[in-house]
Amino acid sequence: MQILLIEDEPGLREVIEYSLAREGFQVTALDNANDALMVLEDCPPDLVLLDLMLPGLQGLQFLDIFRQHDQRTPVIIISAKNTEEDVIRALERGADDYLPKPFSLKLLVMKIRVALRRLNDQASSNVLSRGGVSIDLEAHRVLNDGVELQLTQKEFDLLALFLRRPQKVFTRNQLLNMIWGYGSDLNSRTVDVHMAMLRKKLSDKGNYIKTLPKIGYLWETGEKK
Ligand code: CA
Repeated sequence: MQILLIEDEPGLREVIEYSLAREGFQVTALDNANDALMVLEDCPPDLVLLDLMLPGLQGLQFLDIFRQHDQRTPVIIISAKNTEEDVIRALERGADDYLPKPFSLKLLVMKIRVALRRLNDQASSNVLSRGGVSIDLEAHRVLNDGVELQLTQKEFDLLALFLRRPQKVFTRNQLLNMIWGYGSDLNSRTVDVHMAMLRKKLSDKGNYIKTLPKIGYLWETGEKK
């Protein structure tokens, strides 16, 4: 597994590089994001570890450019910026996880493994199942404890997104962009209305969809059954 590490602080960069190499990862470690853009094509990463405050191109600017071409590869932010706004902003721009500095290397390795495992899970199947709800992406069927549900296309797309990425927080803007498309003139109220309908159709399983006030939604069950 190839990890791209972008961190300008030499001491931290070295210790992360060393720890990840010891865990069996291949690491490309760079001190700036401008160079990182240059290596993406030759050496596409399986996961990106991204500092935010960098010389030259900033972390979030890099993230924007990266996400224009790649919506799939996990990006974990490592940053000394640790307010709620910083975290939300990074998640909105397409980060998968956020680890405020200082952090333990053990936790970093764990987060990397979780992100890669999720990626692996979603790649290996057309049927996504969580907590008794399963969605067949090819047959376009949704089952709740074996009982078929009738969902609209948007509800289906929303559910597929959540089951693909359980525990990931999606902001309303992200959902608007991903399900309704960039530049749609709808507002976040649209998302709330569709989420409410989806929840209702899922009946008791609707409880797996958690609302984070002012932030967005996530699917909260790790059970794969
Ligand atoms: Ca920095």
